[in-house]
Amino acid sequence: ALCLPMAVYMLHDQTQAAELERTFIAIKPDGVQRGLIAEIISRFEQKGYKLVAIKLVVPSKEFAQKHYHDLSERPFFNGLCDFLSSGPVLAMVWEGEGVIKYGRKLIGATDPQKSEPGTIRGDLAVVVGRNIIHGSDGPETAVDEINLWFKPEELVNYTSNAEKWVYG
Ligand code: ADP
Repeated sequence: ALCLPMAVYMLHDQTQAAELERTFIAIKPDGVQRGLIAEIISRFEQKGYKLVAIKLVVPSKEFAQKHYHDLSERPFFNGLCDFLSSGPVLAMVWEGEGVIKYGRKLIGATDPQKSEPGTIRGDLAVVVGRNIIHGSDGPETAVDEINLWFKPEELVNYTSNAEKWVYG
């Protein structure tokens, strides 16, 4: 009699685990201006991750400084914040098992010269100052960045039809 509820509980638990991890991904003004939105989104979509929030915004310089506050001591900080606030940024939240770490793999190394072919920066960018995309670098940053860029009601809760095929 205990078996069935247990099995249901475990199935539920696994589904939850697959849904739990979220990361903040942004296409920077260079990626938007170069017409790379569809190409970049398709890589996350085709992998099997689920889009839970998306919006096009021009961040203020103050907002860019908040986003990159960890880098405030770096010599390129001011130019970086000017650049991020220079045009539209496509802000997104993607969800899936391991999406924070593997999302960074899909993106490639910070310097496109060091990014492997097959990665977004390796295939689509040339220099570090115009590397087209941002992705959270860990679980705490992911939470902070999602909260900075999105209100809770902008995160859309839905069941993806593909989930049972992506996760089995
Ligand atoms: P990542 O974006 O890969 O997490 P960092 O957090 O180290 O990398 O840096 C944030 C952003 O700052 C980079 O994506 C890049 O746009 C810019 N940046 C990093 N290093 C340099 C540099 N040496 N010169 C100019 N811009 C840089």
